[in-house]
Amino acid sequence: GVRVRFCPSPTGNPHVGLVRTALFNWAFARHQQGTMVFRIEDTDAARDSEESYQALLDSMRWLGLDWDEGPEVGGPFAPYRQSQRMELYADIALRLKQAGHAYDCYCTTEELEERRAAARAAGRPSGYDGHCRDLSAEQIGAYQDEGRQAIVRFRMPDRPIAFTDLVRGELVFAPENVPDYGIVRANGAPLYTLVNPVDDALMEITHVLRGEDLLSSTPRQIALYDALIELGVAKAVPAFGHLPYVMGEGNKKLSKRDPQASLNLYRERGFLPEGLLNYLSLLGWSYTADQDVFSMAEMVAKFDIADVNANPARFDLKKAEAINADHIRRIGVKEFTEACAPWLRAPFAPWAPESFDEAAWQAIAPHAQTRLTVLSDITANVDFLFLDEPVDDEASWAKAMKEGSDALLRTARAKLAEADWSSPEALKEAVLAAGEEHGLKLGKAQAPVRVAVTGRTVGLPLFESLQVLGRDRTLTRIDAALA
Ligand code: GLU
Repeated sequence: GVRVRFCPSPTGNPHVGLVRTALFNWAFARHQQGTMVFRIEDTDAARDSEESYQALLDSMRWLGLDWDEGPEVGGPFAPYRQSQRMELYADIALRLKQAGHAYDCYCTTEELEERRAAARAAGRPSGYDGHCRDLSAEQIGAYQDEGRQAIVRFRMPDRPIAFTDLVRGELVFAPENVPDYGIVRANGAPLYTLVNPVDDALMEITHVLRGEDLLSSTPRQIALYDALIELGVAKAVPAFGHLPYVMGEGNKKLSKRDPQASLNLYRERGFLPEGLLNYLSLLGWSYTADQDVFSMAEMVAKFDIADVNANPARFDLKKAEAINADHIRRIGVKEFTEACAPWLRAPFAPWAPESFDEAAWQAIAPHAQTRLTVLSDITANVDFLFLDEPVDDEASWAKAMKEGSDALLRTARAKLAEADWSSPEALKEAVLAAGEEHGLKLGKAQAPVRVAVTGRTVGLPLFESLQVLGRDRTLTRIDAALA
């Protein structure tokens, strides 16, 4: 069966590029009824952190991207944290050396740099020149006597490496472009270049789907795989598919340091996991030509890596929000009210906890559900219900209160006082009639009423809002505005 892996390094905060990679692996695995392996690549003690590891797990759970093997669920190839698999890598590095696929390299950084500069100046390829490939026992002895520490370098075969990328098609890498490369540091620490393909081999990964930034490491990994097959460690070279770059502002590659790239930003703003995933799935893939809002179940039913586009994808925050808005409309009202809960209490809510009125919230929620783009906007949309007085916003006030607004408000107050408060239509009629008396259309007539009652110029449908707030509080606020 199909076995894919999501194998982030726990450094920093999860970002959207990482989520897109996780999503495509997950959708591919689920569509193929295969296995999703979640592996933590934490071999860089200087950069990895426990905090980041926890954030990764938490993010995957929040997104609903579940895994079949990995942290906390275990599996036949456990452990799934590379920091717990170190002996294994040392053993394989040794066997690679014994079989002649790798060798000790004693070149110092300065020597490498010098030769690289010379090669560049002469217009030759500037990668590793193979200096230590075939050292004699004497040369090795001399280097060791000098106290030099060796790194382990993998010996690339002197032939082109070709493979069919699942996204990009046929690719060929000439040997001069893929020099021998380090797999173990001088201090014995194994590098990504070794541990990543070794674990893919041991965990019997069949498809490697990852970002285009890793394309250059693929010929190296294929050569290493061939060596692992020879050693009996690997069964077969997996298929590779490289997902297109994601471009951000100004058509520059979206970097993980870009604030727009932070997954937490979307969580904090109140994206629904499905809304965010729906949007991210469109970075390199499409559902149908005329439908771009769909559920994850629908995505899984249709997802094929062969349909992923090799062209760079553009990250578009406005489109992400529009798609999220559609997802907010799609959920049940109960699910919506529950999803809003975090933004209805501290630290987001500016009202006292005891001022929150569950019945008022339930009454207004359906009107909010059809209007929000992100859930965090709920706070400002309903605060008029729970604050003793509407927010005091001078700019809104100046915008809505014109000459004649007082007179309009007085008429509206009188008509609202006599209206039938059991229906929003009756409240609308009251304001409409007040407007007519002052030569104002409904839009112009309702603006001062809205600001007097909610403190804002925009918000949820006004007459439903007034009804939920109630007759007495509405009239009191209009009186306060007139005072
Ligand atoms: N740990 C690597 C990274 O986060 C994984 C790359 C890969 O998928 O091979 O970049």
